Amino acid sequence: DKIKDAQRENRTIFSFEYFPPKTDEGVENLFERMDRMVMHQPAFCDITWGAGGSTSDLTLEIVNKMQNMICVESMMHLTCTNMPVSKLDFALENVKANGVQNILALRGDPPHGQDKFVQVEDGFSCALDLVKHIRKKYGGYFGITVAGYPEAHPDVISGDAATQEAYEKDLAYLKEKVDAGGDFVITQLFYDTDLFLRFVNDCREIGITCPIVPGIMPINNYKGFLRMTGFCKTNIPADITAALEPIKDNDEAVRSFGVHLGTEMCKKILASGINAVHLYTLNMEKSAIAILQNLGLIDISQVRRSLPWRPPTNVRRT
Ligand code: FAD
Repeated sequence: DKIKDAQRENRTIFSFEYFPPKTDEGVENLFERMDRMVMHQPAFCDITWGAGGSTSDLTLEIVNKMQNMICVESMMHLTCTNMPVSKLDFALENVKANGVQNILALRGDPPHGQDKFVQVEDGFSCALDLVKHIRKKYGGYFGITVAGYPEAHPDVISGDAATQEAYEKDLAYLKEKVDAGGDFVITQLFYDTDLFLRFVNDCREIGITCPIVPGIMPINNYKGFLRMTGFCKTNIPADITAALEPIKDNDEAVRSFGVHLGTEMCKKILASGINAVHLYTLNMEKSAIAILQNLGLIDISQVRRSLPWRPPTNVRRT
């Protein structure tokens, strides 16, 4: 199965994104959490590729376990940073041998401490080249996802927003990635739903017809929110700033506002006819689950109560 098959079904689907934890204990906790969260039947779960390839071994280990022990359709992020083609192929062959069929093909950010992306010798300079490579070498085996930026990629944003010209160039480039073999788009996080809806419209106008899945990051704490939106140069609507300002030191209140906001954003997006939401969980469970429950997409009373994680008995052999 590939994710694109689930997208053809006539139902609203959702998915969960995780990142590789820093410690063994963190990894164990993550598998426990995933085990609980997949009971709600996400269409897929995905795991990030640490900046500069810093987590490559762990990302491979986690995605293979997600696919074969957690038994959820899994997608691995893969970036070109510090990756000659031989290393990219090692990673692709490794997950292929384990039955993983979905790749989010990315250029990647520069490694920590550097501010510009540098192409390595025998490597690629952009996600487009990685998409082309995967299609050429692996045919239709992998479902390929590409990243989209409702407010344009931060590299081309100067000041408050990208110029119209830079935004349009970014869109044209996204179309190239899709035309080269991208099956669907997941977007960068955003908090201005109108900008996302405008982006989808603009994509349709230039002939991008594949599913465009909104990336939703529930606000879990104020400092983290400022850090992420600063890094991604995300526009923050004035009403969100006004709502957060008086509660910014109260984590519980911020989290609960985050659930409310995430729910309202998703409601508006689903009402526009889009039938998928992708949740950046930041390895946390409660906010993502609460949003899906508010949307009526899951019913927490219908799944078994949380039990400690144990290796499932239905391990899929490859
Ligand atoms: P590209 O698609 O290559 O594009 C980057 C920008 O450069 C484009 O927007 C475009 O303006 C310009 N550009 C590049 N090539 C061309 C060209 N040929 N013609 C015209 N313009 C061009 N980073 C990680 O390190 N690990 C992850 O796991 C990870 N997961 C992510 C998941 C999602 C959903 C998103 C949205 C981002 C993720 N990132 C991750 C961040 C991502 O790696 C960075 O945003 C990176 O700077 C760009 O990656 P990209 O694949 O969008 O790059």
